[in-house]
Amino acid sequence: MDLPHFECTKCGACCRDEYLLVTVTGSDIVKISAILGLGPDDMLKALDFYIVSEGQTTPVGLERISSVATERGLAFMALKKMENGDCIFLKKDLCMIHPVRPLVCRSFPFVFTESEGQRNWGLSAKKDICPGLGTGPLISEEDITELAESILPEIQIYKKFTKEWNEHQTSPTVSNLLKAILEDIRFYK
Ligand code: SF4
Ligand code: SF4
Repeated sequence: MDLPHFECTKCGACCRDEYLLVTVTGSDIVKISAILGLGPDDMLKALDFYIVSEGQTTPVGLERISSVATERGLAFMALKKMENGDCIFLKKDLCMIHPVRPLVCRSFPFVFTESEGQRNWGLSAKKDICPGLGTGPLISEEDITELAESILPEIQIYKKFTKEWNEHQTSPTVSNLLKAILEDIRFYK
């Protein structure tokens, strides 16, 4: 795929789409908790867990995201949404946690994968909501490499964490999950 033209118009559409899950990694949780001074219980109030039923196909766009064991089954962890679909951290069209916004917000409308040392980029399944795509300067190889380098290590650390958690945790409650994330030094790098 050719690199596209892209310039974020700051329209906020990606913060307001009720079907765009703002998934979070362990590093995202640690950074948001730190900037807001939230412990595990309060951080939980800003999250939702989207359960993947047994035999259910992973929703489009979430194939690259690690699901995590909870008391109700495997789930995707994401920022809570308001009734109108807005992200819980969107206030008056501004992101209240902009310096520590989650990885998916920093990379949208791009997505990245890594397999056997090979890094790949693509466009989000929700790319059509983004008016910045196809406008502005042509994205360069350097731009996309730099973005990939700021995203992929966090995804890999979270993948390792969720694999360990899903395989070995005997009491996989969301409360224990938040404590485990906040105590894991890998997320503080
Ligand atoms: S939808 Fe696209 S242009 Fe609008 S804020 Fe998100 S990334 Fe920027
Ligand atoms: S965390 Fe910020 S940038 Fe991400 S969806 Fe919410 S308001 Fe938008």
